[in-house]
Amino acid sequence: MYPIRPLLFLAALFATGSSHADWHYDQQAIMGTEIHLQFWVNDDSKAGEINRAVMDEFRRIDAALSPYKENSELSRVNREAGKGTVTVSPELAEIIDKSLHYSDSTGGAFDITFATVGSLYDFRKGQKADTQTTENLLPAVNYRHIALDKRKHRLAFKDPRTKIDLGGIAKGYSVDRAVAILQSFGVHNASVSAGGDARLLGDKRGKPWLIGIRHPRDKSKNAAVIPLENTAISTSGDYERFFIDSDDHRVHHIFNPATGLPTDTDAGDEDGKQGADQDKLISVSILGPRGFDTDPLSTSVFVLGKRKGLALIEQLDGFEAIVIDADHRMFFSSGLQQ
Ligand code: ADP
Ligand code: MG
Repeated sequence: MYPIRPLLFLAALFATGSSHADWHYDQQAIMGTEIHLQFWVNDDSKAGEINRAVMDEFRRIDAALSPYKENSELSRVNREAGKGTVTVSPELAEIIDKSLHYSDSTGGAFDITFATVGSLYDFRKGQKADTQTTENLLPAVNYRHIALDKRKHRLAFKDPRTKIDLGGIAKGYSVDRAVAILQSFGVHNASVSAGGDARLLGDKRGKPWLIGIRHPRDKSKNAAVIPLENTAISTSGDYERFFIDSDDHRVHHIFNPATGLPTDTDAGDEDGKQGADQDKLISVSILGPRGFDTDPLSTSVFVLGKRKGLALIEQLDGFEAIVIDADHRMFFSSGLQQ
């Protein structure tokens, strides 16, 4: 190996003072995940300001929507909306309204009230809700308990036990906000991702961005690498946040609101036979114009399963899907099949 780095460092020293165009990179841990940012700036001296504005926006949204921060607006809503009507920010009203739209169009597969039971899980500690508690709370898991006056930004939960969590939509919303900020600074080429939600602005200056879809059972591998530009892509999987319980079941973070349990993704039926349930998905990627839609859709298709999930995407204009079933087979929506 040649000592390239010191030379690059010297070059950088001599370059200061004259602004030039270049790629700029950053990575920060925010919203319980890694935020990756890459953008092209025509004037290098602006890069720091642009970078800060984008990361500050992720921090602002996290401070408002985190269920883990007692002072977040979301935590206040979860404490108060079961007792009476609360006034919320226009932004929170908009995100809840969008969530309710996807609840309606997915037959309840997307349901932010999953948190009524979901909040009892701790994937790092290997902790889950017991069967009795889940059964007792299940009637409180229902998006129809959410009464939202979108215009007046007023919100109430009709069941006092109901809680909400925006983990299935907030990251997609934030990457859209990040792109809006980049555009306001005149940036035309960028890639922003928050965990499994990415948004690509333009291309990689003359070539497409290459986006990898992780192999759901092997961290070191990609299941696919796809060339993309000017799009959002969201991936939902059962491999990000999970533990394996004493019965050998995978306990993960995407809940089926109908059962109040993590969506069943264990391969095979009870005796472990492969291919017994061809409808189960373990990875879902959705492509579309905005993260605000691809994020809730990836969670929804995951819960709906292959047949109903792909049917949903087929009937939506401008969206495509790449899914992997429990037997590790990959399927595409019709717009991606040559
Ligand atoms: P990631 O958080 O890795 O981007 P997803 O986009 O699939 O993955 O979102 C999963 C998150 O969505 C969960 O961590 C949880 O906060 C939330 N969630 C889980 N199940 C549902 C559901 N049925 N409807 C809406 N949100 C859900
Ligand atoms: Mg999602």
